[in-house]
Amino acid sequence: MNKLSGKIAVITGGNSGIGLATAKLFVKEGAKVVITGRRQEELDAAVASIGGSVVGVRGDVANLADLDRLYAEVKAKFGNIDILFANAGIAELSPIDAVTEEHFDKTFGINVKGLLFTVQKALPLLVDGGSVILNSSIANTVGMDGFGVYSATKAAVRSFARTWTTELKARSIRVNVVSPGPVETPIFDKMGLSVEQIAAFGTNIATQVPLGRFGRPEEIAQAVLFLASSDSSYIAGVDLYVDGGMVAV
Ligand code: NAD
Repeated sequence: MNKLSGKIAVITGGNSGIGLATAKLFVKEGAKVVITGRRQEELDAAVASIGGSVVGVRGDVANLADLDRLYAEVKAKFGNIDILFANAGIAELSPIDAVTEEHFDKTFGINVKGLLFTVQKALPLLVDGGSVILNSSIANTVGMDGFGVYSATKAAVRSFARTWTTELKARSIRVNVVSPGPVETPIFDKMGLSVEQIAAFGTNIATQVPLGRFGRPEEIAQAVLFLASSDSSYIAGVDLYVDGGMVAV
């Protein structure tokens, strides 16, 4: 308890899945948390379910004016930011022979451009010694059948972390990556998979993940807490797999 006492944290996509679980844990650990999401209704429901010190700000990470408005609100309410979890992202099926320009632009627009400007525009508010955590995926390392565009965006995320670790060293801002394996969240409902593909995916997970199951959002949240808190004070630029051992096999 209280590992984040008095800290101000911003979590993009904090109204669902991994972001929501992380927001709940951060509040429990004493942080004041700002969550973002695109739909007001979902955001309000998430704020109500978290309870305590949490504020919801509606916005699309791929829209730079929304990001400006987000940080203006954070500045007005809290003054600065100690922890940024750039978590918002999408994953949609895109086999090589079916990729469209629209799909490519949308996925890179959210997962890469959105994440880049989420971090860039937070910098004036981020305290020296602050912690930035980027949500990537084991797809940055292992081949994921049918998800080439998604995987490429997640490799870009890891690449950003390595570069920003050096670019932000003068301010001792730590930038780290969390790379989840398959985690049970609503993201699977939005992937565009058929019932048969989902069934096959489930079977594959059971056989490909040494721990034999999907992860839970709360298990990723614990890793994000570690990277956010002073428990990881000498860790910068790493890619922490939280994947039941999937990349090891
Ligand atoms: P989710 O669908 O529950 O959450 C995604 C969140 O991102 C939602 O809150 C959504 O509203 C938000 N979001 C999407 N596009 C946005 C935009 N343009 N602007 C603002 N918010 C936006 O899924 P999740 O599994 O919790 O995903 C969170 C992150 O974890 C994603 O970056 C995803 O790629 C990553 N991830 C998930 C898994 C998994 O198996 N669930 C595995 C590896 C990585």
